[in-house]
Amino acid sequence: MEKIISLAKRRGFVFQGSEIYGGLSGTWDYGPLGVLLKNNIKNSWWDTFVKSRDDMYGLDAAILMNQEVWQASGHVGNFSDPMVECSKCKKRFRGDQLEESKCPDCGGELEESKDFNMMFETYVGPFKDEDSISYLRPETAQGIFVNFKNVVDSMQPRLPFGIGQIGKAFRNEIAPRDFVFRSREFEQMEVEYFVKETDWQKHFDMWKEVMNSWMSSVGIDMDKVHELDVSEEDRAHYSKKTIDFEFDFPFGRKELFGLAYRTDYDLSKHMKESGEKLEYIDPDTHEKIVPHVIEPSLGLDRAVLAVLVSAYSEDEVGEEKRVFLKLPKEIAPVKVAVFPLLKNKPELVEKARGIYEILKKEIPDTVFDSNGNIGKRYRRQDEIGTPHCITVDFDTLEDDTVTLRDRDTAGQDRVKVEDVLLKLKN
Ligand code: ATP
Repeated sequence: MEKIISLAKRRGFVFQGSEIYGGLSGTWDYGPLGVLLKNNIKNSWWDTFVKSRDDMYGLDAAILMNQEVWQASGHVGNFSDPMVECSKCKKRFRGDQLEESKCPDCGGELEESKDFNMMFETYVGPFKDEDSISYLRPETAQGIFVNFKNVVDSMQPRLPFGIGQIGKAFRNEIAPRDFVFRSREFEQMEVEYFVKETDWQKHFDMWKEVMNSWMSSVGIDMDKVHELDVSEEDRAHYSKKTIDFEFDFPFGRKELFGLAYRTDYDLSKHMKESGEKLEYIDPDTHEKIVPHVIEPSLGLDRAVLAVLVSAYSEDEVGEEKRVFLKLPKEIAPVKVAVFPLLKNKPELVEKARGIYEILKKEIPDTVFDSNGNIGKRYRRQDEIGTPHCITVDFDTLEDDTVTLRDRDTAGQDRVKVEDVLLKLKN
């Protein structure tokens, strides 16, 4: 794990939040390459789960919501983790994650477990009173449920249909840890898929397939993914079935994503508390129903981490150890790097620049690099997972060919400049 954290920082993927002030626990900042990687994963999710489907609609709800939303959803009363405090060193831990009955840091006695609500509370407007309390949302799902009627009225969808959303979520985790795995501010990609009660199993299985094939498409090592059928006592009380997709992270097997059958719990609860009719009227039979819900819920930061862990590779090239990220082409932050062999030869630089300008128009994530010697440049691009590097040398000036290097094999081909684009696109 240390190797991945150090690569992530060194190469501009992920930095500690507020680092120059000593950090802020549970927060992480995505750097220039991290943003590209994260956006590629996000876009791939959006394409697969929303854009490519006729039965899906997108949403971008506000993070701040009326406090009644969180009272109705049960988060004000129940969104808590058990917290235990050490009577000696006063450190706090999540009770359900401790393996021993003593403090893991100092061996001191632990006090009785208390419930700790994980929502970040804030005030909306100039007064700090009970009525102005709001929360930074702890999940994106509720934004979807409270907009159910708006989407039905504006889009007239037919069951089954779903609403997908990507956005920030905040949880005041008692013990944030394991890099971006457990943060206090993170991003979720969630779908609420509305179905007839009798059909829930069919749609649950369909989304399980979609999740599995999407994970594989973004480069998550499927040998490290395990489906855990969550037992009744560990499931949320409203869920009739939940599968946790667990992943073998370097720090252990932990939940990556979840898929839950949430019944009609949320819509019924919001209907009762808001007084609004959150029903679907069957256009053929005119029957009114409260749809049941299947929820694929994916943490974007955990996806980024699983992709990095899956891609991290080491081998030897020319008796030298090298580190490279075996990222799928679509996910790699940089797709092509173009180099002049020597940076102090203007004719090579000019030719390489020309090729770069042409490629950049067709493949936007193309970069130009002339820093350091060619070996260093290859190492840098390997470490950030760039699938192809193109080098312009003196032969290029003679015969208009370049070297096209493949990241995974480190093999090099001599290719005509006019054929480069076609080769890259295949
Ligand atoms: P955990 O048991 O690990 O705390 P959870 O079961 O509470 O997770 P859910 O409420 O099901 O998580 O949230 C859906 C998804 O959001 C999770 O599968 C995970 O990918 C992501 N997620 C949840 N909490 C965090 C966090 N603190 N940091 C990063 N991602 C998170």
